[in-house]
Formats: sequence, C-alpha cells, structure tokens
Amino acid sequence: MRMTPEHFRAPERRTAPTPGPVLVLAPHADDEVIGCGGTLALHADRGDAVVVLIAFDGAAANVDGGSSDDRFVKERILEAVEGGRHLAGEGRGIEYEFWGLEEGHVAEDEDLDRAARRIERLLNEVRPGTLYAPWYGDAHVDHHSLAQATARALELYAKPVEAWGYEVWSAHQPDMVLDISEAYPRKLHALACHQTQMQGGQLLHRVAGLSAWRSMMFGGKARHAEAFQRFVPAEAEFYRVLATPADGTEGSAA
Ligand SMILES: [Zn+2]
Repeated sequence: MRMTPEHFRAPERRTAPTPGPVLVLAPHADDEVIGCGGTLALHADRGDAVVVLIAFDGAAANVDGGSSDDRFVKERILEAVEGGRHLAGEGRGIEYEFWGLEEGHVAEDEDLDRAARRIERLLNEVRPGTLYAPWYGDAHVDHHSLAQATARALELYAKPVEAWGYEVWSAHQPDMVLDISEAYPRKLHALACHQTQMQGGQLLHRVAGLSAWRSMMFGGKARHAEAFQRFVPAEAEFYRVLATPADGTEGSAA
C-alpha cells in the first residue's frame, strides 16, 4: 500500500482532463465542487457529458432550525443544480442525480453492497471514460461509505474506466494534478451557490487554500490545481479495515 519508493515520485501534471463522458460520485451537494469542480468545468468546456450523483441528503447540516429538513434538502438540491450551471457555463449542462440517502451512519456490508449495485447500474447507463469519487481515506463517515461502495461497484462493473479519487476532508498522496487556473473563478461561483454551507465564508476560505496549495507541483505555471489519486478498489479495502471515520466530522457539513 504505497510504501515502495516508486509511490513517492511526483504526480503527473496535466493541463486538461481526459476527453469523454464523466461520472462524478459525490457524498453531499458541494463535494463535487470542492473536490473536482474546476476539472468538471474543463470537461464541460470540451463538451464532455457530465453526470453528478449526490448520494446523501445533506439534512444533518440543517442546524439552525430555520427550516424543516425537507425544505432544507430541497434547497441543497437547488444549490447544487445552480452550482452546476456556473461550472458548465452558458448553453452546456451538468446533469445531476440525487439519491437522498440519510447521512451520518456507519454503513454495514449490506448497505455497501446495495449502493454498489446502484452505482454499477449508473456506470452502465453513463459508460464514463472517467470516474471521480471521494478517495477512500477521506475522513468523513459518508465519504468513507461512498468510497467503499464505489470500490465494490468498480469490481462489479469490470469495464475499463479511468477512476480518480478526489480530496475534501483529507489530503492524499496524488498520482495526478490538474491545472484548473482558467476554471477557478467558475469553481468559486459554483461554490458560492451553496449558501446553506457557507459558514460565514469558511468554505470559500478552505477551498481557496487547498487549490492554491495543489498548484505547487506546477512550479509557478499554475495558480490553482486539483489533485487526484488513482482509485484502486483493492486499496479501498485496506482503508475499510484500518480506517475509522474521524471524530468531529461525522454528520458535519461538506
Ligand atoms: Zn461531504
């Protein structure tokens, strides 16, 4: 598991994503923007079809009691779709699908198998050339569950797909970094659509820091970047055994 010297080489630097249909698996509305929003904007620029699945309902972030959970969840759906419009630009679309699963629970094996079969169906519908999912060491219980289900789905699907893990809660050791400088303003606009998640601007602050840091690999030739680790199902199992979702993130926003 990433312990031999070849795993410590610098990640591949890319200035464009791989062409072709795209499937994004996101635990909550806004994770797709935080983890790979700039990349999705660059896919959309080229006319790649992009489908985003939002797996969990996001109701746990409804903490101020200002609206019912139902209304809050609907609001988050609208925010995601509006954010997708900002990413894709005029006349192009990012298609969203929402499963509305209840969030904040450690998934049992049968839950993961059920979700894996649903993801496999989605893979067969979309036939993506590229898949983006939360990387399996991301320290949030829902991110962990979706990553585990994704690993099982990829084993069921068994067709070639370029699968990448993106970062939200935890940094990984990237295999590839993508220059998103040109798309970064759209990433920020998309993120700003998630008004229920702003926490007084904290979210924008954190995302700005991550994308600036990830540009380091470009040696001054990029201002903003997103980082990806190859999504290898067998490695996900390693995290299933050893990783426990971190305290303090369970049920939290993002
Ligand atoms: Zn999340």
